[in-house]
Amino acid sequence: MEQLLTKVRACTLCKGLPLGPRPLVQASATSRLLIAGQAPGRATHIKGIPFDDASGRRLRAWLGLAPDVFYDPAKVAILPMGFCFPGSGAGGDLPPRAECAPQWRRPLLDAMPDVALTLVIGRYALAWHLPAARKRSLADLAQAVDLPQGVVVLPHPSPRNNRWLAQNPWFEARVLPKLRETIASLWVDLPQSDGRTIC
Ligand code: SF4
Repeated sequence: MEQLLTKVRACTLCKGLPLGPRPLVQASATSRLLIAGQAPGRATHIKGIPFDDASGRRLRAWLGLAPDVFYDPAKVAILPMGFCFPGSGAGGDLPPRAECAPQWRRPLLDAMPDVALTLVIGRYALAWHLPAARKRSLADLAQAVDLPQGVVVLPHPSPRNNRWLAQNPWFEARVLPKLRETIASLWVDLPQSDGRTIC
């Protein structure tokens, strides 16, 4: 895994990235929780820390994870569909760079054999991790009981989704308590780690 992450950190495959390559990935060979998101935004690219914003605070509250656990690669992998900020367009940030997932996703996933729970956030992650479900609605998928074991679809925790959350109160009332229970059980047999690898 370390060799792979070294290669990811040095990746310059995509041309024309507005701020240049800065792959933001957190992973280790022992990660048990995988957060499969979209791509870093401009502010995240500049900070170099994923989910260090209002979305991240909400996501950690949803998952019941303190920052020291959330940012511990021995426990949590953060693997967006594109690792670098792809730029912005008229409608917001551009999609994750199409080069990234084919280049890096499979080898990184293969290097994390202990992942027991994958949180799928956004349509690009959905298309990769659950291609057969990509046409189903978020409300359907977020409460679905027919997904492959160990895969959960979440709305993006962005404040921009406040309206969806208000319209779907069952998500916070019923889905999240069960999710927190599942997550709390993921590391009961693992030693503590203070390693931190964000590249
Ligand atoms: S987005 Fe992915 S493939 Fe493109 S330069 Fe960054 S790490 Fe490499």
